[in-house]
Amino acid sequence: MKWQGRSGSGGNLEDRRGMSGGKIAAGGGLIAVIVVLAQLFLGGDGDTGKILNEIQKQSVQTPTEQRELTAEEKKLGEMADVILGDTEAVWKQIFSENGMTYQEPNLVLFTDGVETGCGSATSAAGPFYCPADQKVYMDMEFFKELQSRFGAKGGDFAIAYVIAHEIGHHVQTLMGTSQKVRKMQQGMSEAQANKLSVALELQADFYAGLWAHYNEKRVQMLEPGDIEEALSAAQAVGDDAIQKRMQGHVVPDSFTHGTSEQRMKWFMKGFEGGNIQDGDTFNEL
Ligand SMILES: [Zn+2]
Repeated sequence: MKWQGRSGSGGNLEDRRGMSGGKIAAGGGLIAVIVVLAQLFLGGDGDTGKILNEIQKQSVQTPTEQRELTAEEKKLGEMADVILGDTEAVWKQIFSENGMTYQEPNLVLFTDGVETGCGSATSAAGPFYCPADQKVYMDMEFFKELQSRFGAKGGDFAIAYVIAHEIGHHVQTLMGTSQKVRKMQQGMSEAQANKLSVALELQADFYAGLWAHYNEKRVQMLEPGDIEEALSAAQAVGDDAIQKRMQGHVVPDSFTHGTSEQRMKWFMKGFEGGNIQDGDTFNEL
């Protein structure tokens, strides 16, 4: 995939990689000592416990320092930002063609664990979209795993496909499709509800293909092998493929996503047709 030399998103990439959680012991500890000393000298027995509690709370919440990212990590971050910018340009165009306004979501890169509007998550969750804060969350390590554990080809366009798929969930949220489906799922049998989830996931794959179609027209990004990379990733994260390969590792955003064949089919339908009207995955279940 050609991505260098293209501008990134409008500041919508949040890079939280290399940040470690935990307390700043030194700062909190020093203040605590001063408080205890003051207590001793002043002779009161006031609210030391309360104050210490307060200090501890503050030190937990204090953001910790970030380690320097490696050159490879920085490059991956730049590429993710360009892909995010590409999704903004394409979806702005498609929304305006349909008389709507696109609201840009954020893409958060993290390592190990992250706090989101949908609760805390670890890398084990795989990439996901949180509708509550309208952000996509990804640990880039996922793509190494996609290759090593799930047998995908890897490559930059596999990353583009996954980002475009998650942005597809954002589009579904802006269009109200996700909300409609969640409502319909209430009171349904699990099997029926799962069918609707599969339709949502396949539509996100369709939107990823649609994005690739529009973006290729816009900036000619594709290189030989790119579509195969996307299809290989889609194939690798199909429910049937995952169930065959999984050994005790959970990737929730990969359950109830449809088979490998369905996922590839819908991506290609979006990519080849380039028509948003073709994306009704709910009628083909
Ligand atoms: Zn999904």
